[in-house]
Amino acid sequence: MSAAPIDLLIRNARVVACDDASCAVAPRGFIAIAGDRIAAIGAGDPTLGEPVRDEIDADGALLTPGLIDCHTHLVYAGNRAREFEMRLQGASYESIARAGGGIVSTVRQTREADEDTLFAESAVRLQSLMRHGVTTVEIKSGYGLSLEAELKSLRVARSLGERFPIDVRTSLLAAHALPPEFAGRPDDYIDEIVQRILPQAARLGLADAVDGFCDTIGFTPAQTRRVFEAARAHGLPVKLHAEQLSNQHGAALAAEFGALSADHLEHLDEDGAIAMARAGTVAVLLPGAYYFLRDSHLPPIELLRRHGVAMAVSTDCNPGTSPTTHLPLMLNMACTLFRLTPAEALLGVTRHAAQALGLQATHGTVELGKVADLCLWDVDQPAALAYEIAGGALRARFKNGVQHPLQ
Ligand SMILES: [Zn+2]
Repeated sequence: MSAAPIDLLIRNARVVACDDASCAVAPRGFIAIAGDRIAAIGAGDPTLGEPVRDEIDADGALLTPGLIDCHTHLVYAGNRAREFEMRLQGASYESIARAGGGIVSTVRQTREADEDTLFAESAVRLQSLMRHGVTTVEIKSGYGLSLEAELKSLRVARSLGERFPIDVRTSLLAAHALPPEFAGRPDDYIDEIVQRILPQAARLGLADAVDGFCDTIGFTPAQTRRVFEAARAHGLPVKLHAEQLSNQHGAALAAEFGALSADHLEHLDEDGAIAMARAGTVAVLLPGAYYFLRDSHLPPIELLRRHGVAMAVSTDCNPGTSPTTHLPLMLNMACTLFRLTPAEALLGVTRHAAQALGLQATHGTVELGKVADLCLWDVDQPAALAYEIAGGALRARFKNGVQHPLQ
């Protein structure tokens, strides 16, 4: 045992460390936490020389790393429920856009919302993620699409991380869509991003990474490259929405810049998978968007496996294509829709999600010295976490070694 006093001892837990490919379950044992770190892990009952401040009997519950949602757009105002209803009644994308719907409506409402309103609406979603076991979340901007509104969104994301017991990592996604005032002038908007928005976000310390949307309805590879070069010049890592609707070879471009992740990937080809494997770029799979859009083009899971690309799974929480905050439900969808194994899905919201955020040294597994972000689940085996459709098996959630109520 370490010499430090133990702040919390969890006994009788069956630990799923998520440090191997099988998500093996250890026999009943204990975890000792000192400060915000895991100070000891062992089988059976501990023999501790140090005083123990607090103790919990897990009674055989499964203990996993706290879940990491590595791809969300959860800071936005309003919702698109009316648009959902119109689509079901047969309205076309064009007629919805003419009626002021689509991403433009979210951009308008996000721009109009003051910072407190944007915070309050986003906090509801953040708290829901937390109730489902999330201890670290990535939040993108991308519904502001102007200097002022992008910085506002990132400030709200930062404030959420300061006000709630959860780690927030931010990504600047100014290159999400073309704002209306730049209609027909995408290269001018890229100028605005690389000359003003990105440098300001970097200078203010508001962005941990830079993201883009490279596709036929987003930006071209050449435009994406300019954003990546600006990110590199400011010392920020990159990520990319790539190969969702078509193959633009965005994943290979992202890998060329050593991207943390390439996300969606329904149309990824083998060259892209090889480039990602070489660069250590994580494949972030988003089954919620696939489901909501009733997509039928599956991401090439077998290709990713064959080339040893780490796979993460995320909610993609956003108002247009994946209005969900239920990360455990995404485990079920990743298995049901994409045929991931339950172990792959669990690694996708723990170890590999940490890697997609560059946090693998401190988060994502239950190991000595790592941050004590943990979840206790009332299930008998890891597969049960993916088996239940929107199940409610979470018993307790610990952030930095402290248990917080689930409500
Ligand atoms: Zn996204």
